[in-house]
Amino acid sequence: MVERIIIFIIGLSLIFLLSLLIMGIFPYEESLQHSAVIIGTGSTGGTYFPLGSGMARIFNIYLKDVVSSAIVSQGSVDNINMIDNKEVQLALAQNDVVYYAYNGLRMFEGKERNSLRAVATLYPEVIHVVVRKDSPVNNFNDLIGKKVVVGAERSGTAINAEQILKAYDIYEEIEPVYLAFDEAIDQIRSGNVAAAFLTIGTPAKVVTELANDVGAKIIAIDQDIIEKLEEEYPFYTAVIIPGRTYQGEEEDKKTLAVKAMIVVNKELGNNLVYRLAQAIYEHVDVLAEVHDKGKVISLEAALEGIPIPLHPGAEDYFGR
Ligand code: GLU
Repeated sequence: MVERIIIFIIGLSLIFLLSLLIMGIFPYEESLQHSAVIIGTGSTGGTYFPLGSGMARIFNIYLKDVVSSAIVSQGSVDNINMIDNKEVQLALAQNDVVYYAYNGLRMFEGKERNSLRAVATLYPEVIHVVVRKDSPVNNFNDLIGKKVVVGAERSGTAINAEQILKAYDIYEEIEPVYLAFDEAIDQIRSGNVAAAFLTIGTPAKVVTELANDVGAKIIAIDQDIIEKLEEEYPFYTAVIIPGRTYQGEEEDKKTLAVKAMIVVNKELGNNLVYRLAQAIYEHVDVLAEVHDKGKVISLEAALEGIPIPLHPGAEDYFGR
């Protein structure tokens, strides 16, 4: 009997020692507390998707306790909704749309997304209105009565298209078509639609492809409309798409730009947000390899054009 008790006690101690050993090799936090960081981006033809995928790669390589992946989406509005209902942990979105969402303005009236917090702004997103090189369309009035791709349904592009077409007072006179960037360009190439709006980092891969293939023409926004829109919507900035950004499009074209930014939910942990921001800015070279716009992302410009409160983790990181 005594022997059995001794064996039992030795057994218990062995199990205890073994568990100590296992916990020592695989510390509790590391084995159980992996954070999933799903990144809301855009369509594969855009800039968000390659840059978001680059961010996932940075997190997976440099943050051992983070497992990350980028998912395709319809763009800004879709991403903001997914941050709000926590389907994704980090997302890219236009700063104008983030402002409307947080404050419950325009399409977000009655459904303000005040769970949103800013991490940083990244690079300018330029509004392109693209037609085929051989198209008879040369200005906005030529779009009347025609099919125009205004972006994906829950994109920021669709919001910009609506505001611009309304400023020209032709919104009711075009036939809107809702498509992602690659599909939009395919439809222009095949002549099924007259034009497409894209709010995207330059050079836009899909526009480059169209330009190299059947030829592309950019429709400039007129100066008076630019001024009107800048006055009405504070996040628009007048910019130029320089001639030869796209092959065969020799002239500079006036248009408007907003900024791409990173958003999270206010409930994402401060420490995690701090480390995500730190990983991005310490390894921004990875993003520069993925897309030209990655080269524009810098610590110095990270807080320019932030339209809503910063997440406390980002505040700490940027020393605010
Ligand atoms: N800014 C675009 C939108 O929200 C998406 C841009 C991109 O996918 O690069 O519509």
